[in-house]
Amino acid sequence: MSARSAPVARLVMKFGGASLSDPARILRAVREARARPGPLVLVVSAREAVTDRLLWAVGRPRDRAGHRRVVEELRREHPQLPEAGRRHLDRLAKLFATLEQAGIPDGPLVDRILSQGERLAAHWVAEALRRGGEPAVAVEADHLGLTTDNAYGASCIVLDRSRAPVRRGLGRLLARGELPVVTGFFGRSLEGRVATLGRGGSDYAATAVAALLGAPHVELVKRHVAVLSADPREVPAARPLPELSYEEAEELAQFGAKVLHPLTIEPARSHAVTITVRSLERPEVATTIGPARADRRNRAITALRPLRLFRLRVPGGRQRPGVVAEVAERLRSARVNVVQLFTSSALLCLVLDPPGVPRALRALRPITAEDAAALDGPVPVALVTVIGDRVLDDLDRLPARALVGAQGLSATPRALSLAVPERRCGEVVRSLHEAFAGTRA
Ligand code: ASP
Ligand code: MG
Repeated sequence: MSARSAPVARLVMKFGGASLSDPARILRAVREARARPGPLVLVVSAREAVTDRLLWAVGRPRDRAGHRRVVEELRREHPQLPEAGRRHLDRLAKLFATLEQAGIPDGPLVDRILSQGERLAAHWVAEALRRGGEPAVAVEADHLGLTTDNAYGASCIVLDRSRAPVRRGLGRLLARGELPVVTGFFGRSLEGRVATLGRGGSDYAATAVAALLGAPHVELVKRHVAVLSADPREVPAARPLPELSYEEAEELAQFGAKVLHPLTIEPARSHAVTITVRSLERPEVATTIGPARADRRNRAITALRPLRLFRLRVPGGRQRPGVVAEVAERLRSARVNVVQLFTSSALLCLVLDPPGVPRALRALRPITAEDAAALDGPVPVALVTVIGDRVLDDLDRLPARALVGAQGLSATPRALSLAVPERRCGEVVRSLHEAFAGTRA
């Protein structure tokens, strides 16, 4: 934990892509927030589906006509852009030209292209707010000095390197009574290039900015929902969770709840920033995320899929010193992320993302080639998780039908995870929701 510095802002409000489709509502929300005392900072993500379209375009590096179409669509979707914003459309066209020449997109170029969505949004929102009489100023996070590591496409914010420039830059604007509108989703890498934080990364940017500014509170404004007890497409009975502990929210994000970027909680927890996830359409529907409270009881169900499970019988099993570390190290150097690991004494069950499977098989060959080794899989699975502080107190609720065909189970006092056959995912999610988060809970 870093030293606390005097707060520069009282509140950081982040508007997600879908919420940007309603600038009048945003103006109203901002006016309300500014009527309360203390400085306010906004963070915005790209407009809905903009990042998807930019990704589509970088996936077709030589498609000049396609690129041109995307630039024109973005121009239409950001009407009345001020001059600084229009320059970003021209810049996007130039970046596409570079891509067409290169033919293969490299990480920093892709991230530079993707970042244009947030830049357009920040200039567009700032202009709409200025027309409504608010003193808004667009701020681009790389220029501000929000610093990340060099992991393009999935970078992490380096808080210690970002603190001084972010506090100085935003502090100066706030001291003049201005309202900064900061781009989410990206920063500048240690080597000075644009680096994105991964899909949905504006939530993470917002909590990091709040932590850096010493703001006690951040609001993540989503168009429709707060954090729900399950994905409502899977479980119609899913309901909003009014409160979550940092730890529960972290598990939720890591175990597949799309509503929050997985790293969102880290800066908030380490700097005691409380988070409210709020629906723009129904402001009374909100989830507050903060320190754990003893009397609180939440149960949420998440699902991660598609995943692949392998059973690896290692010669010598647990008697072999460092066997888990050996497997993990081989996978790490092949850049394979292990989503879940279940072990018994002679068997390691590895749950992997499908794209990592070929690399994993290659990396494990020295082990699987041993005479007594055996590897079977891949088994298509989903990882269904019940999340909530002290969830093990409720273990007796686990319905037998959720376990049919299960390939593994792991439990901590906060998360109970089952690897189930992929085709049973929806059914298991619904039965666990009924048992743990239904009206009886
Ligand atoms: N625009 C980025 C995305 O769609 C970041 C975000 O929305 O938070 O992933
Ligand atoms: Mg988005």
